[in-house]
Formats: sequence, structure tokens, C-alpha cells
Amino acid sequence: MLGPVILAASRSDKMRRFVSAAPGTKQVVDRFIAGETVDQVIPIVKDAAAKGLEVTLDVVGEDITTVEQSHAARDAYLQLIGRLEELGLGTRAEMSVKLSMFGQALEGGHELALANVRPVVEAAAAIGTTVTLDAEDHTTLDSMFAIHEELRKDFPQTGCVIQAYLFRTEDDARRLAAAGSRVRIVKGAYKEPASVAYQDKAEIDKAFVRTIKILMAGEGYPMIGSHDPRLIAITQELARQAGRKLDEYEFQMLYGIRSEEHVRLAAEGHRMRVYTAYGTDWYGYFMRRLAEKPANLLFFARSILTK
Ligand code: FAD
Repeated sequence: MLGPVILAASRSDKMRRFVSAAPGTKQVVDRFIAGETVDQVIPIVKDAAAKGLEVTLDVVGEDITTVEQSHAARDAYLQLIGRLEELGLGTRAEMSVKLSMFGQALEGGHELALANVRPVVEAAAAIGTTVTLDAEDHTTLDSMFAIHEELRKDFPQTGCVIQAYLFRTEDDARRLAAAGSRVRIVKGAYKEPASVAYQDKAEIDKAFVRTIKILMAGEGYPMIGSHDPRLIAITQELARQAGRKLDEYEFQMLYGIRSEEHVRLAAEGHRMRVYTAYGTDWYGYFMRRLAEKPANLLFFARSILTK
């Protein structure tokens, strides 16, 4: 019940100001956000590498309102890629981007987002890594998939995300499961209406399994983004049935969530990539993490009240 309320709050400026200023917020934010600057996130990339983990780095931010902010987003990723190159970490880290941070919702936003993300994808390719386009709310997806298709003409390794809760996703999975593609499947983290998305957890899980089957049967590279132990076990079985080797798909989990499982799966020989978010504009990302698990909200409320 609380999830939809928190997701609605994740788009309220008033709540943003309240949550950001509340004493005790930082302590909870730090569990999910790896730092504010590139220099704070680099040791985390190194630590992950030492544990046999890969990362995908997300400079937090979304729903920007000016062209200047969209350029700043592009530049933040270019700075990150520059640091990874200097440190020889290019092959350990890929990037995840949200097109709404690159100007997608502004006037002429489709072209603006494409123009901003292209140099990031180009710079990533130059250091031997790649970029995945995150999936945001359903109204943004046609544009995201069109940008993905455009980028793939020059950078075929560019990835994208599909969300099991959307009715459209199995069709998207069929279209995307072609040779050379990289597709992350997740449950979906936004507040979506019943006209476009399953609302029931069990229905979402079933759709997730159907989508894994499509991806595993296809010729692309499936990336399973979930912390759900049941879905992880099912993925392992479906991969085995599809005759896929351990390096022909990967698991992905979020920084700060089920960290012991990251290490356990990597130790079993799986490729495990940790989605590591950093930066100062953490509000939307943080609120979605609270919405996913009510216990997080209780912890958050307690830490505010005891400060
Ligand atoms: P759940 O059933 O929600 O969780 C299973 C178990 O994992 C829970 O019981 C709990 O133990 C643990 N857990 C899950 N979430 C939390 C949490 N926040 N705090 C503490 N414990 C938790 N969504 C999008 O819409 N677009 C994206 O581009 C996107 N990218 C993602 C990338 C990665 C690598 C991952 C892992 C998720 C991404 N998501 C994205 C979020 C996703 O849609 C889900 O909201 C989120 O992963 C929770 O679903 P779950 O599969 O982990 O299952």
C-alpha cells in the first residue's frame, strides 16, 4: 500500500525539499548511494573488482528542466569515463543512463537526449566499455527504444532495459533478443496505471519469468536485474535449459542491497554486475528504493525521528 504513495512523493518538489533537509536522511541515503563525487565512487569500483564483481555506474539525476542541465549530465558522464580511463578501469565498469537526465522531456527532447548521450556512448566505446539506457516511466519508452536503435547502428553493444510489469514487454523482448543485443530485464520501479502494467506482484513475477525465457531463447545477452532469490534460481535453471554458459548472461543487483548475494553468485562463477549510483541529485532514485521495501521507510522514519 505504501509503495504507490512513496512513488507519488518521488515526483513532488515539496517532498524533495523536506526529505533532503531532514536530519538523519544522509545516513539512510548512504546505504544506496555510493558517494557524491567521481573520486568517492572510484574506490568502490576498485573494491568491487577485487571481489570479482563488475559495476554499472549511474550518475544520479532525472527529470531535468533546462538544456544547461542536460549538458551538465553529459559532462558528468564524460568526466567519469575520463577518470576510468586514467585508472585503467574501463573494462570493469559500464555506465547506466536515464534519458530524462539528458533532456528527453524538454521541447525537442528526443533529439536533445540523443545528441547528449551519443558522445557518452562514443567515449565509453573508446575505453572498451559500454552504456545501458535505463527504463523510466512508460511514456518515455518509445523514445528510449528509438534512441537505443539509433545508437546501436554505430555502437551495437549499447544496452537497454525492459520492465516485466508492462504489458508491452514480452513483445519488446522478442524484438530485442537478437544477436549482439544486451538487454536488462527488471520488475519495474515506477508508478504505472492498470491500463499499461500488471499491478499484482505474482503477475509481475510470472511476466518476468516469461520474459527471461524469451531472452534466454534468443541470441542476445540477457542481464537479469533482480534481488529476488526465486527469480535468480529460475534464471539459473532457464539458462541451463537454454544451453547457455555462465558468461552468456549476467546477474545485476543494486549497490547496498543483498551485498552478500553479489559475492556469493560471483564466487559460483556467475558474472555479477552491481548497479552503483552516485552523485548529489539522489532524491528520485532514493525514493524508489524506499518504495520497494516498506522496512526501508520505517528505518528512514526512525532515523529522522531520532536525530
Ligand atoms: P523484489 O521482490 O522487490 O525484492 C526481492 C528482495 O530483494 C526483497 O525481498 C528484499 O530482500 C530485496 N530488496 C529489493 N529491493 C530492495 C530495497 N529497495 N531495499 C532493500 N531490499 C530490497 N527499474 C526500472 O524501472 N528501470 C530500470 O532501468 C531499472 N534498473 C535496475 C537495475 C538493476 C541492476 C536492478 C537490480 C534493478 C533495477 N530497477 C529498475 C529496479 C527494479 O525495477 C525493481 O524495482 C527492484 O529491482 C526491486 O525488484 P526485485 O526484482 O529486486 O524484487
